[in-house]
Amino acid sequence: MLQHHLNEETPVLVVGGGIVGLSAGLFLHHHQIPFILIERNAAVSPLPRARGFSARTLELFRSVGLQDGIEAVARTAWKQGRFGGARRGRTMLESESLPLADISKLHAEADPSPCELIACPQTLVEPVLRRALEERGGDTRFGWELLHFEQDEGRVTAIVRDPLGAERTISASYVFAADGGRSEIRRRLNIDRHGIDPNRYYLNIFLEADLTSQVAGRTFSQCEIANEEVSGIFLAMNNANQWSFHLAYDPTVSQPEQWSDQQLTTLVKAAIGADIPVTLRYRSPWNTRVRVADRYRDGHIFLMGDAAHLMPPWGGFNANTGIADAHNLIWKLARVLNGEADPALLDTYESERQPVARRNGEQAWLRTDFDARFQIRSEDNSAFFEQLIDYGELQMRYRYGVDDTVDALRAQPGTRFPHAWIGHQGHRRSTLDLFGSSFVAIGGPSAPRRIGVPSYLAGTDFLFVDESVTWRSLTGLADDEAALIRPDGFVDFSLFSSSLCRTVV
Ligand SMILES: Cc1cc2nc3c(=O)[nH]c(=O)nc-3n(C[C@H](O)[C@H](O)[C@H](O)COP(=O)(O)OP(=O)(O)OC[C@H]3O[C@@H](n4cnc5c(N)ncnc54)[C@H](O)[C@@H]3O)c2cc1C
Repeated sequence: MLQHHLNEETPVLVVGGGIVGLSAGLFLHHHQIPFILIERNAAVSPLPRARGFSARTLELFRSVGLQDGIEAVARTAWKQGRFGGARRGRTMLESESLPLADISKLHAEADPSPCELIACPQTLVEPVLRRALEERGGDTRFGWELLHFEQDEGRVTAIVRDPLGAERTISASYVFAADGGRSEIRRRLNIDRHGIDPNRYYLNIFLEADLTSQVAGRTFSQCEIANEEVSGIFLAMNNANQWSFHLAYDPTVSQPEQWSDQQLTTLVKAAIGADIPVTLRYRSPWNTRVRVADRYRDGHIFLMGDAAHLMPPWGGFNANTGIADAHNLIWKLARVLNGEADPALLDTYESERQPVARRNGEQAWLRTDFDARFQIRSEDNSAFFEQLIDYGELQMRYRYGVDDTVDALRAQPGTRFPHAWIGHQGHRRSTLDLFGSSFVAIGGPSAPRRIGVPSYLAGTDFLFVDESVTWRSLTGLADDEAALIRPDGFVDFSLFSSSLCRTVV
């Protein structure tokens, strides 16, 4: 019995229980791929980092039945006001609103989706993912650490330490390195990274200070401050008593470890502009560098999330990019493990996801400029303002295969199939709800049914809820054309029509 536990086998070992590893666990469970997820820490990270989850990320959570759970916790996040808005000034209390910085623009101009961008601290989202994974029976082991690994041609052998300190062996067909920006797995595989060097250094200080009355009616998402004593940026965590202050520092002059709690408290009070009680909780340094791994794969090991790419938080891209990495890889792995696809399919993980990370990294870096982050043109950013790519284009309208983005989703091969509300089997659904497990064909009223995959034809198998929407207006395809959709909702590279395809009667 003991022997059995000391030497285990699994198709997939996920290393890291951050937001990307947990998401990977949920997608693996969805595709019925058994896995073991290990996370070194006993609990999810208490450090506030991501607060913006794109509509596309919510679509991915919707596909595993978690849209409602995430939206429910997001509704509890903000104690007053709402997420959005930017301010700038000498101190937080003296700051003025930037007139054009309004997150409602992102909602108003959002691409059609059954989901919306949500603002919710990562610290609230990760527990929802972990709980769902555990309730669904996912083998999720917090307090377990990867110590070493070896890879031979067929498998990866991992030596892990359990919470009681015993060393165990896990033999895995595949390993997902979701072990964060300092990824030991990436280092041991000698995978180099390239990108853009940092131009700003910050110490992220998570603190509690009750500013409920002071910010009432003037809540914000970000507040940039600069005065004689301190400069940095406040990110609101609940618009009342939880904040993270990103203290700007010059690494040639000071090191973040050198500041005592007392010194940091003094700096935070100078940034707030009031001598009020402040309790420091956690601190963590970071900088604005962009780094993308040269390779996303080494044999049976795949990098994902921060292990594969790091970028500044401006724009809120990195966690979203990492979650989409996992989603892209796992349906492919399911097909390979089921014997439905050649293992070469797994190589498309890197060729599809690496360009997205590079583009998002460059865009995040451009948003180091505070105004650019809110799409406000200024003297400082006029030289590169035109290079800024819209949030929806980056998050939703990227196109695989050609390393580009599109102006609108119209069922172009390599893009996410467009959303429209449909009536299907007596339910109101999104077109996206038709996809998720296998390849699916979706076509116009007179399109052929494709042999070997489930087919949905407009007018026969589903109706558009909005009667002004037609197959052609949604997709640009003719009534006798259909598209093959991958399990991740992306249009495959083969379109077919009644003149090209055998029909099934
Ligand atoms: C200030 C800030 C704000 C941000 N805001 C946004 C935002 O708004 N939107 C956005 O999309 N992104 C944002 N990000 C980025 C986002 O937080 C990260 O991209 C995301 O947390 C990465 O998740 P991950 O799971 O890849 O890595 P991590 O969260 O780093 O998780 C890796 C996990 O692996 C574990 N681990 C490491 N080694 C081992 C081992 N040997 N054995 C077992 N476990 C191990 C670690 O303990 C850790 O829990 C922000 C980042 C910062 C710093």
